[in-house]
Amino acid sequence: TLFSFIFAKRNEYQRQALIELAKTDVLTNIGNRRAFIEEFAIALANTNRQLQTTALAIFDIDHFKMINDNYGHEVGDEVLVKITHLIKKNLRPNDRIFRVGGEEFCLLIQNTDQQTVENNINRIREILAGTALICAHQVTLSAGVTHVIKNDTLEACLKRADDALYTAKNNGRNRVIYTKT
Ligand code: GH3
Ligand code: MG
Ligand code: MG
Repeated sequence: TLFSFIFAKRNEYQRQALIELAKTDVLTNIGNRRAFIEEFAIALANTNRQLQTTALAIFDIDHFKMINDNYGHEVGDEVLVKITHLIKKNLRPNDRIFRVGGEEFCLLIQNTDQQTVENNINRIREILAGTALICAHQVTLSAGVTHVIKNDTLEACLKRADDALYTAKNNGRNRVIYTKT
């Protein structure tokens, strides 16, 4: 009957809405770690079939604890939302951003070589550094960048980007480090 058809449709709609909700970060309204893992798997499959190349970038806000300590957790939250908008505004339509941890973001950037992705990530880093998100306090980020390679794993790829991020932090923060291996 029409009634049971509508009922089934509504159930399906609600099921899909719940699935989307489980993959969305509540604060910033972008994909969360679960969404990132799913998208990474797709990017890896496409890399293995040589359909596309994908670069992975991990962003980590510099001295974020200090922002919380000096201005309070609510201002910290606001900064996370503003940074999310700033990054999104500077990505291309096919690129994706996820909030994978407290003040850590993963980006999946489509079809770029090392030089281009480094330039693009550096441009975002510079825009943030030049934006007054908090009065009289410069907010910066560090980034580790790598490409997804054939027969990669999530763990291996994340480790490369994470190691690069660690180097960026150790070299003085507010910088981007790319690594192939
Ligand atoms: P570093 O430059 O080495 O990255 O220093 P950091 O202070 O950013 O790094 P650390 O990992 O020591 O601190 C991260 C802080 O982020 C600690 C935690 O309280 C804060 N944080 C994590 N999630 C949230 C959140 O959702 N909202 C707010 N306001 N703070 C958060
Ligand atoms: Mg961190
Ligand atoms: Mg940090």
